[in-house]
Amino acid sequence: MASSTDLSRIKESSDTGKQQNRVVTEEEWLQKWEANNIGFHNEQGHPLLKKHLDLLLNGRSGLRIFFPLCGKAVEMKWLADMGHSVIGVEFSEQALKDFFVEQNLSYSEGSIPEISKAKVFKSTSGNISLYCCSIYDLSSKIAGKFDGIWDRGALVAINPCDRERYANLMLSLMDKNCSYLLATVSYDPNKYKGPPFYVPEHEIESLFGKFCEIKCLQMQDVFSERQKVWGLDYFLEVLYLLKIFPG
Ligand code: SAH
Repeated sequence: MASSTDLSRIKESSDTGKQQNRVVTEEEWLQKWEANNIGFHNEQGHPLLKKHLDLLLNGRSGLRIFFPLCGKAVEMKWLADMGHSVIGVEFSEQALKDFFVEQNLSYSEGSIPEISKAKVFKSTSGNISLYCCSIYDLSSKIAGKFDGIWDRGALVAINPCDRERYANLMLSLMDKNCSYLLATVSYDPNKYKGPPFYVPEHEIESLFGKFCEIKCLQMQDVFSERQKVWGLDYFLEVLYLLKIFPG
């Protein structure tokens, strides 16, 4: 795996400690939204997406871009404004409605025939479709395949025991030229229970390495007061680019 940054002073833990068995329920996520306990939301949008946007787009226009576990990520509006189609999935209806209201976008609500009780929220302009359901309810049959994926707060938010299922689903949603930008976090998993959960580099390799070329684009220490309160003393954000092997 290629790595452009050397943060050798920080030793990556090789095991994920007690996090392996930790489960956060749908109910708990919905409660976070209800209580506005959403410190993960970044109103300014993510600097790493801005910085590496060219790698996601790869000179192409009019792409279908997927936001797994989208919350109310403002980057969805950025990409839609550039003329791409944005498809997100999130099980908090409140998050999705807040997204449209906060971004000043009118929307309509529909059902998804294939998934009982699920809803889809579509911007009136038609280029943002947000599915309100569990990510595991989606398939390429329902949502199609994607040219690009922005995965921030997604692989790191799902329960560690579901990573293989999640990775296989993502692989099935990638079109052959898909650029998958994947942001993970790295910290001492014995000091904080997550989410976000620590995902070691070797796990990215074992989840995706059989089918994808994996490039580590950047690793940076983004430690702040928030992580200090969690009891941590370092907190890295790591960005990967995944591309399906040609052939
Ligand atoms: N990607 C967003 C949100 C990150 S927090 C951002 O960067 O701001 C993770 C989000 O995933 C939460 O909003 C939570 O409600 C949602 N979520 C967790 N598990 C999910 C699942 N299995 N299916 C759909 N949404 C899920």
